[in-house]
Amino acid sequence: MRSLRRALSALVAGWLAAVSAWAAPEVTVARGGRIPLAGHLELLTDPAGRLSLAEVQAAAEGCAFAPLPGNVSRGYGKGTVWLRFTLFWGSATGDRKLEVPVAFLEDIRLFSPGAEGTYTEQPRGAILPLTGAADRYRHAVFSLPPPAFASHRPQVCFLRVATRTTMAVEPILWEPGAFWGAAVRESFWFGGFFGIAFIILIGNLVYWIRLRESLHLHYGAYVGCMILLSLGTSGYGNLLFTPDHPRVFQWLIGTTNCLFLGLGGQVFSGIVDFRKGFPRAGRAYGWTVWGLAGAGVAVCAMGGYFAIAPLTQLLLLAMALFNGALAGWLAVRGNGAARLYLLAFGVQLAGAVLLLGRNLGWLPATFATEHAFYLASIFHLILMNVPVAYRLERFKRERDVVRTEALAAAERHGAELEARVAARTLELHREKAQAEQALAEMRKMVDEQERFISTISHEFRTPLSIIDGSAQIIGMARGSASARIPGHLGKIRGAVRRLLHLLDTSFHPGRMAAGTWAFRPQPLDLARELAMVAARAQATTDTHRIVVDAGFGVETVTCDPEWISIALQNLLDNAIKYTPDGGDIHLRIFSPEPGWFAFEVADPGIGIPEDQQQDIFKRFFRGQNAAATPGAGVGLDLVKHIVDTHGGRLTLSSRPGTGTVFRVFLPRTRPEAGPTPD
Ligand code: ADP
Repeated sequence: MRSLRRALSALVAGWLAAVSAWAAPEVTVARGGRIPLAGHLELLTDPAGRLSLAEVQAAAEGCAFAPLPGNVSRGYGKGTVWLRFTLFWGSATGDRKLEVPVAFLEDIRLFSPGAEGTYTEQPRGAILPLTGAADRYRHAVFSLPPPAFASHRPQVCFLRVATRTTMAVEPILWEPGAFWGAAVRESFWFGGFFGIAFIILIGNLVYWIRLRESLHLHYGAYVGCMILLSLGTSGYGNLLFTPDHPRVFQWLIGTTNCLFLGLGGQVFSGIVDFRKGFPRAGRAYGWTVWGLAGAGVAVCAMGGYFAIAPLTQLLLLAMALFNGALAGWLAVRGNGAARLYLLAFGVQLAGAVLLLGRNLGWLPATFATEHAFYLASIFHLILMNVPVAYRLERFKRERDVVRTEALAAAERHGAELEARVAARTLELHREKAQAEQALAEMRKMVDEQERFISTISHEFRTPLSIIDGSAQIIGMARGSASARIPGHLGKIRGAVRRLLHLLDTSFHPGRMAAGTWAFRPQPLDLARELAMVAARAQATTDTHRIVVDAGFGVETVTCDPEWISIALQNLLDNAIKYTPDGGDIHLRIFSPEPGWFAFEVADPGIGIPEDQQQDIFKRFFRGQNAAATPGAGVGLDLVKHIVDTHGGRLTLSSRPGTGTVFRVFLPRTRPEAGPTPD
């Protein structure tokens, strides 16, 4: 164990001796168009930043230049540094350019030897206006003229760099033509970088306006920050926009660095749905990153960014590593979005880690560490289309689902509405039918009442005309024709009986209470009824003989006795009325077929012309040949109504001058008998 330790310390001592003995080799200017000075530099630190050129030149022991293996990469807060390098011009002719990346170094001064051991001082740097500089470029660029004489002698130059930013110094010696060629190429690539970033920024803002997906806004802001930060750190921002106000982009670098904490975290948790999977942790993460970002922005606003710059860079590094690790873990567990995040951000995270490592002084300042972030960012911006497309796809799917659900709900609602409308329509139809039925009943009632009134007036008119006629005859016959008086008195009494019967039946309390002249079927001894009606009719005439034939055996039928009586009475009255010359009027009952009965009234009267026979049952219709006979044309209509109400049928056969036969067919039991017989 002890021997191992001894061997190790011997090794370290040997290495230290070798390094201190090693002196930086001089630069052969004629070697090429682009000569990085890494490996040719010697470093002297000046923590207080007070040393003058003369003091540095005459550096005492312990304060001497030490050779530097590569470039300067010292991170933050390490004070001012002096670099010494030696040029050997040899056969080289013409000026050279000394470019000193990186862009944000605050104060850079080149001391190049002039004639007679004097030194010319050229100041450049991120906090000095660009306007006075001979070569205006994103980095500090100095002119190095060849020595006025003795070009074979080495030329010792000093470079003083003082900055509060990260101390990364990578000087390059250029042949002017090569320098401007490279500058044009570089500008082309950076132009591409900013162009793509700008398109993606606009694209995300458009997506956000169209879709209202906050992720697009956050990512757009993230890209916007990236553009500002890159403009600042690359030096293009200062070169293009604020050559006379260099501190604007210095401030922007600080602020955007802090904002990156919030936006980077926001975009990360948005893509992997951190809050959905882990609500509490996701919330804590969000609060943390935005809390830190807010505090950082506030410090920047007060001009104190450089006090927190290392911390900010450390936090960004920690967040990048945390996001990468968490996304990796989620990706392993099958989170598709986390995989996409790793794909799109992994490259950028790697670039950011390299850059932050360089900024913190942990990694050497080289072209790779300087440009890795931009290169990674460009890949990131291109790859970022994948998660954006993925989210769009998901958004579309979700929108389709919502749309389908809304459609289904609308259809359901529509169907419900239709069913309700159908039910309501049915109800309305029912109500309409009920209303129509009520209306029809009402109309029927009104009809019946009208018919009742016209019947009564008609029924009263016939006996009254008999009474009137007989009274006139009695008046005229007084004394001279006293033998005819008993006959006329009989007629008067018959007419009065008929009127009384009418009064009894028509204004019967039951009928009055019913409110209508309602149909009231009940058993009826037909032969008896017939005999009574015939007797009443016979009493009204001397010149006619009512011959009743009821011998076939119809006994009891079901019908409305009063209605049947009125119908018979009307037919007999007509038979008498339209047989002016007198004669036999036959009243016959017969059974046309089982379940039916019929009666017929036959007279040998004036008859009815054939062309009027179909109108004879219409209300108020009167035959042309009946004009001489008083009448109202409602009797037969009433008879027909009575027969119809009984479910029966009324027929007529008549020949003018010969006579008329009315037949009434009625079911024995009302109303549902078979079809009416002819
Ligand atoms: P009215 O007898 O009051 O005129 P009806 O309705 O009873 O009214 O008769 C209508 C018409 O039918 C009569 O005007 C008449 O022309 C004719 N009519 C009815 N019965 C007979 C009958 N037995 N003989 C001839 N014509 C008749």
